[in-house]
Amino acid sequence: MNEQLYWKEQMSTRGIRTTKQRMAILHVLIEQRRPLSAQDIFFRLQENNPRLRLSTVYRNLNLFTEKEMVRKIDFRLDKRECCFELVSGEHHHHLICIDCGEIIPLDCPLRDYQRKISQETEYTILDHTMKIYGLCPRCK
Ligand SMILES: [Zn+2]
Ligand SMILES: [Zn+2]
Repeated sequence: MNEQLYWKEQMSTRGIRTTKQRMAILHVLIEQRRPLSAQDIFFRLQENNPRLRLSTVYRNLNLFTEKEMVRKIDFRLDKRECCFELVSGEHHHHLICIDCGEIIPLDCPLRDYQRKISQETEYTILDHTMKIYGLCPRCK
């Protein structure tokens, strides 16, 4: 199924009315394939939607977060606002530029390691997190 259509269905099962602006916000998140701030999304949409307001983008992102279509990510980088990403089932990690705050999703490299630790320690491993911080090509 087309991703745009998938998220449209997710909206209706969650009782969210489909509007042009809501679809446009989701479209940016689908297309970019990485967590974005409300500002990032707003700037991308502004050109074709001159009447769109930043507050509308915030309001809809919070609605999507409440309805668990979108996850809020807060990396506590002082100068950076939080980012939003689509909730997809796949477990993954993030690479974060500490200067501009860009976030790139990474596949999980820890599955084998987790299995090994579990065998060695007899722990039942429940979860893990990993964040990698650095400077992106534009900021270094
Ligand atoms: Zn950067
Ligand atoms: Zn992982």
